[in-house]
Amino acid sequence: MSERLVVIGGDAAGMSAASQARRRRGADDLEITAFERSSWVSYSACGEPYHVAGYVDRLESLVARTPQQFAAMDIDVHTRHEVTEIDLAKRAVVVRDLQEGRSFLTEFDQLLIATGARAMRPTIRGRDLEGVHELRTLDDAARLRQIADAGTGNVVVVGGGYIGLEAAEAFHVQGWNVTVVTSGQRVLDRTLHSDMGQKVVDSMRRVGIEVVLGTRVECLNGSTRVESVGCSDSTHPADLVVLGLGSEPEVELAEAAGITLGSTGAIAVDDHQRTAAAGVWSAGDCAEAMHRVTGKPVNIHLGTIANKAGRVAGINLGGEDAVFPGVLGTAITKILDTEISATGLRLAEAKAEGFDAVEGRATGTTTAGYYPTASEITISTVAERRTGRIIGAQIVGGSGAAKRIDVFATAIWSNMTVQDLAWVDLAYAPPFSGVWDLIHISARNAARLALG
Ligand code: FAD
Repeated sequence: MSERLVVIGGDAAGMSAASQARRRRGADDLEITAFERSSWVSYSACGEPYHVAGYVDRLESLVARTPQQFAAMDIDVHTRHEVTEIDLAKRAVVVRDLQEGRSFLTEFDQLLIATGARAMRPTIRGRDLEGVHELRTLDDAARLRQIADAGTGNVVVVGGGYIGLEAAEAFHVQGWNVTVVTSGQRVLDRTLHSDMGQKVVDSMRRVGIEVVLGTRVECLNGSTRVESVGCSDSTHPADLVVLGLGSEPEVELAEAAGITLGSTGAIAVDDHQRTAAAGVWSAGDCAEAMHRVTGKPVNIHLGTIANKAGRVAGINLGGEDAVFPGVLGTAITKILDTEISATGLRLAEAKAEGFDAVEGRATGTTTAGYYPTASEITISTVAERRTGRIIGAQIVGGSGAAKRIDVFATAIWSNMTVQDLAWVDLAYAPPFSGVWDLIHISARNAARLALG
């Protein structure tokens, strides 16, 4: 008899795993059934802000594979089906068909929990007023795009993380008056050093986006529709509010089934994506991953991690042996012409983790200074004192700045030092960099401090 694999959650982690398992084991050997609560599978949440902005016109183009395409691979996908319980003793899940309103039991031999993360919901007054939205699911993106297309007005984005910034760009280019309110002293304050966060704030203000820092939203006002956002000492008119307060792992199902959670609150997994329960696997935003610099578990919500962790789970479920090598939390975003990226640890994080760390800084231009598209770029390189081992980097700058972070991610991944990086044979031509790239200069500055 064939084994039965049930996948809970039909996006990046779940469907990567299902596809990889199927490549290695035919349908006569492994039955694969995936349950997805929403109407979509295998979609790119990452593309949602660009749909709202109007850069990507068709929502459907954010979908990598449809249930029909999975069916052609003998993967049985059920959208609008929510798993409401995992019964480890019976080796079964309880599934609610959201269309028909009935529940049924599906047995499994192997189970993959890939339930992802959900947007954080504030408990403030007015949360449920009309006109208050999140940007998490494709349905959220479709609704926000409809609103953006229907006219213009005042939008308040609550939260200065990358989803908040991407939402701010989307409505700015759609002609709305945008205000970003954040409790942080800067935007992206969990990603960037504060002065680099300030550069992003300055670039937003230059294009007319209002940024309100160090301010908590206390209430959303209106009778049925939102009309304004109330903060401790200011009120901001709002026809629309987009909440971008971060995300938390969806672990309630796993927790209720007695599956061990880790210190981050996400599902604890080993380097094969196995949970502590036999035959139960987990990957993606709902699961922990090991940070390669600290060696500690983290729960970072990125599509890059979800795809790779899902792939590892799927290879293992397919009968081969794959190890998830860990993460650096490498992330990249932009707001209009300002690009932002980061990898590894910031100086403050490195110190909090017990590293004797230094930071090398460099500000210059993205291209040769004389080239017409030259714009400012700042790079921060964090390294361990004495050894010079690179442990983090952040970049803020104009077009072409942010993808330089991949050099740092590769360097950290392979335990390079700032002394090495300062001499690496990087490509040069005037439209792309100076003859010494800012990467070299920032690494050289870090080496000077690290080695004394
Ligand atoms: P999810 O994508 O959250 O999928 C989990 C799925 O499980 C969901 O579809 C959910 O409906 C389903 N589910 C949950 N519970 C159940 C249940 N009980 N029964 C059935 N189904 C269930 N990452 C990047 O790396 N780069 C980016 O540029 C980027 N941009 C982003 C922009 C936005 C607006 C958002 C929201 C996220 C972005 N991300 C980005 C993060 C990235 O999208 C996530 O890390 C990735 O989608 C995680 O994949 P996942 O499969 O773990 O979880």
